[in-house]
Amino acid sequence: MKKTTARVIVNTICRRDCAYCCNKSTAIMRRATPIYTVKPLNKFEVVCITGGEPMLLQHRLRVLIKGIKQLPTFPKIYIYMADYDDIRDVEEIAYMVDGFTWTVHAKATQDDLDKFRAVQSIAFTMPELSWRLKLHHDCPLVLPLMPRAWKFIKQRPFFTLDKCTIPGNEKLFIVQTNLEEELDV
Ligand code: SF4
Repeated sequence: MKKTTARVIVNTICRRDCAYCCNKSTAIMRRATPIYTVKPLNKFEVVCITGGEPMLLQHRLRVLIKGIKQLPTFPKIYIYMADYDDIRDVEEIAYMVDGFTWTVHAKATQDDLDKFRAVQSIAFTMPELSWRLKLHHDCPLVLPLMPRAWKFIKQRPFFTLDKCTIPGNEKLFIVQTNLEEELDV
């Protein structure tokens, strides 16, 4: 199958410790190609930036996005997130990308609920972006959903660790620490 999507782990930092996190899978992580520049992303139609939690290392995330936007092929850029430090970061990044997937994980807390509300409010005011919501089937929260804010909402069982896969149309990359030095000149 043609690889149309680059899935890029921009960092591996995360405040959670989900039992089903694919980053714990050696079989998955050993398939991640290290990248030191954005050039290997040039041949893809879509770049999905994931982590860890991409929003927790803002400088690195913004350097990566800035680099991708300079590629001649103009791939679409989507961010996979479930946390942030400052909602203003979400607003600013929203002007740089094509969409977000927000995930409400198992063991979500009141803090997650508050952050979800804030993201949903931004999504509602920026319908030109693709906002996607994924809910873990064990999510304990009752969410105040505004369905019109979301392009789609999915609640389904997550893969267990031993079932983690990379879809056939995706190639997995992991950013190495000197990306900022390469691009932030
Ligand atoms: S939030 Fe995502 S990156 Fe963090 S532990 Fe859970 S699955 Fe892994």
